[in-house]
Parts: sequence; C-alpha cells; structure tokens
Amino acid sequence: MEERFNLIVIGSGPGGYVAAIKAAKLGMKTALIENGEIGGTCLNRGCIPTKTLMHSSHLYYEAQGFMDAGICFTGLSYDYDKIKDRKDEVVNKIRQGIVALLEANGVAILHGTAMIKKNHRILLKSFEKVKELETEKILIATGSKPVIPNIEGAHLNNVVTSDELLSRSGGPYQKLLVIGGGVIGIEFATIFRELGCEVEIIEALDRILPNMDKEISQSISMSLKKKGIMIHTKAKVVKISEAIDNGLCCEYEEKDTLKNTAAEGILLAIGRRANTKDLFEEGFSLEMEGPNIKVNSDFETNEPGIYAIGDVTKGKQLAHAASAQGIVAVERMANKEPSIDINVIPSCIYTVPEVAVVGMSEEEAMYNGYSVKVGKYPMLGNSKTILSMGERGYIKVICDATTDRILGASLLCDRATDMVSEFATAIVGGMTFKDLASVIRPHPTYSEAITEALEDVAGMAIHLMPKKR
Ligand code: NAD
Repeated sequence: MEERFNLIVIGSGPGGYVAAIKAAKLGMKTALIENGEIGGTCLNRGCIPTKTLMHSSHLYYEAQGFMDAGICFTGLSYDYDKIKDRKDEVVNKIRQGIVALLEANGVAILHGTAMIKKNHRILLKSFEKVKELETEKILIATGSKPVIPNIEGAHLNNVVTSDELLSRSGGPYQKLLVIGGGVIGIEFATIFRELGCEVEIIEALDRILPNMDKEISQSISMSLKKKGIMIHTKAKVVKISEAIDNGLCCEYEEKDTLKNTAAEGILLAIGRRANTKDLFEEGFSLEMEGPNIKVNSDFETNEPGIYAIGDVTKGKQLAHAASAQGIVAVERMANKEPSIDINVIPSCIYTVPEVAVVGMSEEEAMYNGYSVKVGKYPMLGNSKTILSMGERGYIKVICDATTDRILGASLLCDRATDMVSEFATAIVGGMTFKDLASVIRPHPTYSEAITEALEDVAGMAIHLMPKKR
C-alpha cells in the first residue's frame, strides 16, 4: 500500500532535519528523505568537523605560548590520526543524537534519493528499489556542494575540496595552497597553519573575505600574515599541473605578472552551488533564480505546496539560517505566524580572534540612507582579554542617529561568535544602545566590552581615554 504523508522533507541537513522535527511537533505526519548521512553538510562535511579540527589546532597553537603563562613542559607534538578520529567521534555522537530526536518525534527516516514528479508525488530510489510516495506538501532542503572551477588541472590528485580535505588521512599536507579567500579558505588556512603547515592563499578579488566589512577583512589578513600565511590578492589561477617531486604546481596571474608556486595539496574553496541535480522528473521544474530555487517570503516555490529552504535557495549559506528558515516554512504551512525574525542573521568566522557580524555595517547603514552613530571599544582595554593573553580586536556597534536604535554590530575578539547574539536580540527587539547598555555584565568577562562599545556611542565609555576635544 502507498504511504501518505502531510510533509516530505528532502535533505537532512540543519535545514531539513530541524524542519521535520518542527513539523512533527505541529502534528504533521512527516517523512525525511536522505541519500547520504543524516545531518547533511554542516554535520558531516562542514561546520562540525571543521570546528572540531580547529579545536585541536587552536589548542596546539595556544600551547606553544604556555610558557608565557608560566606553564613549562617539553616535547609538544600532535597525532593527526587521533585528531581526525576525535572529529569522527564528535560527528557520530551528534548524528546519533539527531537520529534519536527524529525517531522520538515520530519522523519517518527514509534512506534513498528523492525525485519530485509532476503530480507532487515523490519517487524514492534506494539501492534497486523504487517506491512512490504521496504527500500534501514537500520541503526541498537539498543544500549545496563545492564549486569546481574550470581550470586545467582542477581534477588532479590532491587538488581537493573541503569535503575531501576533511576526510583525508595520513597527516596534513606539508604545504597547502588555498584557492579562494572566503570563509572556508580562511578557516582551513587557519587550521593547517596552526598545525605547523606552510599555507598560501590565492584570492581573485582585492581582499580576502570580500563579503565582510573592510576593517574586519584587513584585520584578519594582518593576523593571518602574522601567523606566517602568505596571501595573494587580485590573483587568478591559470593552471595546475603535476610537479616532478610528486607535488603540484599552480600557475597564477598576480597584478598582470605570471607566477607559480608549488604545494603538496591544493584546496578549492571558491564557493558552493545549489544541489538540484536529478531532483525533478523530466518535464517538470520549478522557477529558478540562477542555480537556486526561487521562493516567496513563506519559502513556497511557484508550485503551491512545494517549499524550499537553505543553501538550495538564494541567500546566506549558513546552517543557522537554514534551520530558522525550516522552522518558519513549516509554521507557514501550518498557517501560523513565524516565530523567528529571519532577516537578522549573524555571520561568524572561527579564526583567532573570532569574527562575528550581525545587522548592517556602517557602510551599509549609510548606503541605506541612515544617519549613523558608532561606538567602538578596543579589546586591549578589556581585563579578560589582557589576563587571557588575547589578541588585538574590537567591538563596534552601529546605531540610527535619529532613533538611537541598534542597526548592526561587528565583533573581532575571543568569544565573538557567542557574544554576537546579544546584538541580534537587540536588533530584533528594536532596542536602543541605551537599552542594551542598561544591564550589568559580570566582571571580568569579554562581554564587558559590549557595555563599553555601547557607552562609546555617546562618548561615555568609562574604560576608554576621552577623545581629544
Ligand atoms: P565564499 O563565497 O565565501 O568565498 C569564495 C572566495 O573565493 C571569494 O572570496 C571569491 O572572490 C574567491 N574566488 C572565486 N573564484 C576564484 C578563483 N578562480 N581564484 C581565486 N579566488 C576565487 O565561498 P566559500 O568560502 O567556499 O564558502 C561557501 C559558503 O559556505 C559561504 O556562503 C560561506 O559563508 C559558508 N560557510 C560559512 C562558514 C561559517 O559560517 N563559519 C564556514 C564555512 C562556509
């Protein structure tokens, strides 16, 4: 007998599995289809494995400065296979938790590849079996995959994407060349440099992290160079070839000059593209915006009853954005008001120091016609940063000069990725800088610098030298 569902979610990443649980909680008979491992890119090939590797690389790097904190030891080293095993254990543990939650909420987990048919039915192919499923609504959450550039040599051995680099065993490359100075490129460059590898970055535009505030991109660039990472900007890769010593040679054009550099491994990190391959039956398609599925503000496509969220749609490719969109899409399917403001999405980079931004940058606010007031606090004045031997950094808050409301914030400091939520809460709640400054933050903490940045909007920060009149 044919199975009938209220909702079938395709893809079990942080968008899909969260939406499936939410739908089940709202009383929908829900199925979740996945053709790989439960958890999608974020859990299996993205955020979680990267940050787990990074936890080890940060510890190893930090340990080299322990003498400065009065801790003496000899013989510091690392075992890359153990680092990798721990990463796999973390991923497995989290995956088991997600599967248990799906099952406990009554979501049917169906393994196989889904194809959407013209009549809104779904063809589920698993191994040799093909089954047709009937559903009232469909949610597409198939995510994205790394872009492979059209460069000669891009398919050679040891020219890898983040997927392969994460699963590779046998120690890190002695030298890693990273093509693309975006978030993935910068995070992997950080991990491998901290583990002692030689790292070089080739970025096509005039600065790394081109989508970030210029000040942040310059600060991160300085901090990476200080760690010994070589960065080429306005540089275009022409060709990759095998070198005589079994390594790779990359030819690139930098400021009109043809140059080359050798590396043991090359990471391609030039962006990710929506996963829609073989998703639709022949003769059926949805309205697209370039490679992405087009949706309205309820995440519904041009076909009533078919929704899409996350990386497969246009917008920020972030796990937490996909989860929030999944929840809102399901709420709209159930005719409920959205419980989340999906327009305020924090973006984070897990470098040292960390980067976190939310809302508008100063330039964006001015471009959007606001007259702005800005407060900024350098972390070298923050006690917790000094006692923890933290690096240079700052917290900056951007406010509407007419209403005093907080429009955005950028943080470059330890724990930035946790503290940014204070600003996200303030923006969603329409708070002024005085509202957010009116709470007591414990001492000594990094978050005291939030108070100082907010006070500085009115030139009243206590722990900041008065500006010269
Ligand atoms: P990206 O778009 O962030 O960066 C790609 C970079 O590659 C850009 O700077 C671009 O100018 C450059 N580039 C493009 N073609 C090039 C070429 N031929 N040669 C040299 N440089 C080239 O993409 P990404 O870093 O691959 O990340 C993909 C997505 O995943 C992004 O949306 C990112 O935000 C997201 N992500 C987020 C996190 C996080 O939140 N911490 C971590 C990883 C990935």
